[in-house]
Amino acid sequence: MAESRTPDQVVARAARATDLADLDAAVSGCFACPRLVRWREEVARVRRAAFRDQEYWGRPVPGFGPGDARIAILGLAPAAHGGNRTGRIFTGDRSGDVLFAALYRAGLANQPTSVAADDGLALRDTRIFSAVRCAPPDNKPTPEERDTCAPWLHREVTLIRPTLRVVVALGAFAWAAWWPVLRQVYEQRPPSPRPAFGHGAHWSGAAVPDLLGCYHVSQQNTFTGRLTPGMLDDVFGRAKQLAEVD
Ligand code: SF4
Repeated sequence: MAESRTPDQVVARAARATDLADLDAAVSGCFACPRLVRWREEVARVRRAAFRDQEYWGRPVPGFGPGDARIAILGLAPAAHGGNRTGRIFTGDRSGDVLFAALYRAGLANQPTSVAADDGLALRDTRIFSAVRCAPPDNKPTPEERDTCAPWLHREVTLIRPTLRVVVALGAFAWAAWWPVLRQVYEQRPPSPRPAFGHGAHWSGAAVPDLLGCYHVSQQNTFTGRLTPGMLDDVFGRAKQLAEVD
């Protein structure tokens, strides 16, 4: 499988992805952002003490969930010791614990935990992916890294476009990453001015998925009570209603 080592190669390889399995494999073979490649590999080499006996994934983390999803959950980027360790998005960290417990309560996941790529987790009507596919230092990708990675997101949305009805953006970064999708995938001009991100914010346009804002499931938000399980239940209830998921 050819690796993507430059922004142009990302554009070309993403455009050629024929289905989600092909896209996921292509994402996993991406080396286009030198700073993020160094970081993901260093984290995988040094490891956290609690995971010292584990082999880290240390690569880009593809999306997860069925190809006929009606709801998409858009995050920022994988966590250094979560997705970057386990190879599955939001898997193996506290953020994922909160997210998958909520998806389970909403009937969108078959189990309330997500601890390893082979733990039997399956999603219903829902696909999760991130705007940037490699773990960034301090959870802060640069604008250049965000733009280099965007073709993977755009191709992923294109592939699930036939069923996709609602996108839940986890945090302001994901909310902002959605607007270029309108142009690249749906050939529509994004609204101007851009609607502001907020928890519970809702934007809808003609013939495009609805966009719902949700505070990110980071420990910073969930430990402080800024984001509660009840608030997540409200967002996913609203997403199901808009997507006409039972
Ligand atoms: S962030 Fe995206 S574009 Fe950059 S190396 Fe990772 S997968 Fe490739």
